[in-house]
Amino acid sequence: MKKISLVVPCYNEQEVLPYFYAEVVKLSAAMPTMAFEFVFVDDGSQDCTLPIIKDLQRADNRVKYLSFSRNFGKESAIYAGLKNASGDYVAIMDADLQDPPQLIKEMYHIIKTEGYDCVATRRTNRKGEPPVRSFFARRFYRIINAISNIELVEGARDFRLMNRQMVDSILQICEYNRFSKGIFAWVGFRTKWVEYNNQQRAAGNTKWSFWKLYSYSLDGIMAFSTTPLAVSSVIGLVFFLVSLMLLAGLLIKQMLGGGSIFGWPFLLCILLFITGIQLFCTGIVGQYVSKTYLETKHRPIYIVKEFSDECS
Ligand code: UDP
Ligand code: MG
Repeated sequence: MKKISLVVPCYNEQEVLPYFYAEVVKLSAAMPTMAFEFVFVDDGSQDCTLPIIKDLQRADNRVKYLSFSRNFGKESAIYAGLKNASGDYVAIMDADLQDPPQLIKEMYHIIKTEGYDCVATRRTNRKGEPPVRSFFARRFYRIINAISNIELVEGARDFRLMNRQMVDSILQICEYNRFSKGIFAWVGFRTKWVEYNNQQRAAGNTKWSFWKLYSYSLDGIMAFSTTPLAVSSVIGLVFFLVSLMLLAGLLIKQMLGGGSIFGWPFLLCILLFITGIQLFCTGIVGQYVSKTYLETKHRPIYIVKEFSDECS
């Protein structure tokens, strides 16, 4: 009997976990030919998420859990969950029921009958999301697709079902600065995209503020593209050419007998402009250096405080 593992990162999800569990139990009942395993990763929740998961585990031996020593972020939780999933197929899904569990049945059917390695999901709309957030999300996809060599699908969710081969490939990537959407695209394999309408959270609140999303998008760009590093060279070259032209202009003006052009305010503007650009470029380099610094420390991606049998 083939097994499907559901990997569920949970951070302060006490309100929604009982509903989520009820839904996945329904799913398992609807797929009687498959064995199931539910891997809950408690990402350092401060509420009753862990006690609830423990109760579920006592009542159902298909439930496994890991609990982190603090909040390490969803990316770390996904990695830990994948590492501890033993199924032939592994699905990643949010605890808040924004990823409809019933879709797994259809996704499995696609993998089985159409020979895909992975079925991933994307939202067709962003209903219920602040317009500013949607606007920047769309810009983000445009930029990252233009300057990196991976192809990110707009509106892609982390919700996906993968076969063992793909999961093992993802686990080989043990970098510290993890950007899963990029990693999924980077490992390749045949992926089919299924679409669904944006679902509202069943209960509880989103853990993402605008600034968290902004820094997450920068992490993504830096993890999969070095183009920003080339920006300073391009700007430098442009400035060099412009200064040559200005110099030539000044010389010609001098030869024609004209006096000095513009005074110190003009000089000050140029000075501030150039210094600004220089600091901006140094900042970009600094960002990459800081990522490299963190990467060379080889710190663990997560630290587990408590776990059920068969987890580590
Ligand atoms: N999550 C997590 N660690 C975090 C933030 C979120 O494990 O630091 C989990 C969260 O419990 C949920 C999933 O990641 O299961 C998605 O989070 P959320 O619903 O807040 O994100 P959104 O759906 O709004 O993008
Ligand atoms: Mg959510």
